Amino acid sequence: MSSQSNLRQLLLQLNDCSYKAYRDIKGSYKFPNFTLIIDRVQGDPFAAPSKLRVKIPQSVAGFPPQLYHSPSREIALRDYLTRQFDEAAAESSSYRGSGKSGLITITQVGQQVLERTSVFMSQEWVEVRFLVGLPARGRRISGRQAAEMLCEDIPQIVDKSLKYLSLDQQEIQQQVETIEDADWLRQQLAEQGLVAFIANGAILPRRSGVDTRPLVEEAVPFQSAPELQVEFTCPNRGLITGMGIRAGVTLIVGGGYHGKSTLLRAMELGVYNHIPGDGRELVVTNPTAVKIRAEDGRSIAGVDISPFINQLPQNRPTTNFSTPNASGSTSQAANIIEALEAGTQLLLVDEDTAATNFMIRDRRMQQLIAKEKEPITPFIDKVRQLYTDYGVSSILVIGGSGDYFDVADTVIAMDNFQPTDVTTQAKEIAQQHRTERTLEGGKHFGKITPRIPLPESIDPSRGHRDIKLKVRDVDEVVFGTEEIDLGAVEQIVEAGQLRAIAEAIVYAKRQDINGKYTLPEILEQVMADIDAQGLDILTPFPQGDLVRFRRFELAAVLNRLRTLKVR
Ligand code: ADP
Ligand code: MG
Repeated sequence: MSSQSNLRQLLLQLNDCSYKAYRDIKGSYKFPNFTLIIDRVQGDPFAAPSKLRVKIPQSVAGFPPQLYHSPSREIALRDYLTRQFDEAAAESSSYRGSGKSGLITITQVGQQVLERTSVFMSQEWVEVRFLVGLPARGRRISGRQAAEMLCEDIPQIVDKSLKYLSLDQQEIQQQVETIEDADWLRQQLAEQGLVAFIANGAILPRRSGVDTRPLVEEAVPFQSAPELQVEFTCPNRGLITGMGIRAGVTLIVGGGYHGKSTLLRAMELGVYNHIPGDGRELVVTNPTAVKIRAEDGRSIAGVDISPFINQLPQNRPTTNFSTPNASGSTSQAANIIEALEAGTQLLLVDEDTAATNFMIRDRRMQQLIAKEKEPITPFIDKVRQLYTDYGVSSILVIGGSGDYFDVADTVIAMDNFQPTDVTTQAKEIAQQHRTERTLEGGKHFGKITPRIPLPESIDPSRGHRDIKLKVRDVDEVVFGTEEIDLGAVEQIVEAGQLRAIAEAIVYAKRQDINGKYTLPEILEQVMADIDAQGLDILTPFPQGDLVRFRRFELAAVLNRLRTLKVR
């Protein structure tokens, strides 16, 4: 294997050569403390940056096994090191010429602690995958700067961010213990008959719509209503108390601006773990929870929305409903059925993003517009059946319709950002003021029939390229010639998840999408393969920018592919 000084020499020799000549540096180099591996070299300064790895032996890195001996701890530690590397790289690298010249970067992270392919940890090694914009002047190699980056900056970043003894050991311990507690708590939920838990003291509001860090000064810490309070003894933190939301149908009511949506958003993200200091470290939700909303304009492929929608104009079938342009109510119906198909046990709905005519239909409207003239069976007539027929719970933010009191098990009122239990009052009011609605939901929810995706309808190729995938933040992925809009899929929190999902669809097409397996079978198989072999099975060579996702978001992306056809 070549050495660090070989690499330095090589780079100096390449100075001023055409940028393409950088490809000569591909390979492995032995540095005093680690191995540097250059996997992919960019073709020009404006192309995607080059892909590199470092492997540091534990004799140098020195992470004690107790920090990574369980999956929870390992993911927490790997997440921590990704953040440390990011910080150290930002300090030491800077623009040096054209394109992304001079930048050393690692996958971008937010408030969630997720399994990523940026850092790996074993008894032997710490491996870190990152990107380097190899420096250029115009379209020529800037060899001296490249030597500086690879032979000086990288060893410095490694020293600063990947050695146990140079890091804040207390902070690392806190990170692994926090994540271990959160995973443990989430596992306890089902046993206690709960679908969500929000610890007392949690900080739920964020700084702004675009800044997901916790609101600092004015934030009112969460405090459970006494009737809903539960306690747990966590493995690390010990005794904690907070609000437990029981399985069944739960309403969150209260005046506008009193914190309803903020609470629901925290629960949506409670399927993930959060970094210490986020404020939502001890907010956990049933891991299968899916946020449901209206999403007019989305495409729908062969979904049986008949539990909610029947007798459309022009006699369009609703047991096998397809459209390139769904309405608010049909999109919300499809979102629910697809989530059920993928195996959710908890639906989360916010009136702010729901279709009114999907949620309610009051007595007066029932009289004016006869049932035969209204294709929609409102959610209010189906939400209980979801629980009794399928064990699927719902948490609904409804500030605008008391009709829902009839179907709720629990009613929580938010008042100045604090919850109170108003179930008894709501039930009394429901007795006093009858809605006198006619129930429209029938006896049962209806069947959920899994669909079979057709392989020829899923094509990642574009022009001469077999696979063309491109991710734009968390909102859009280009899949072959198709753009898939995910702006309404709120539980995708990192671009790396979307990248991994796009790769997973390509993988699934190779492995499991064969015109015979149902969508749930395909989801099951892909997730099992990733569980067993890691995210790396999704790509032909090691990549540092894949992030763990759930089956629900994989299904969500596939379901929004406009070419999708099913049987
Ligand atoms: P609602 O859905 O009831 O109308 P929101 O959840 O949208 O209310 O909250 C309204 C505003 O209050 C938002 O700007 C939010 O960030 C802020 N907020 C929510 N919860 C808290 C809290 N616990 N402390 C301080 N501000 C909060
Ligand atoms: Mg709201």
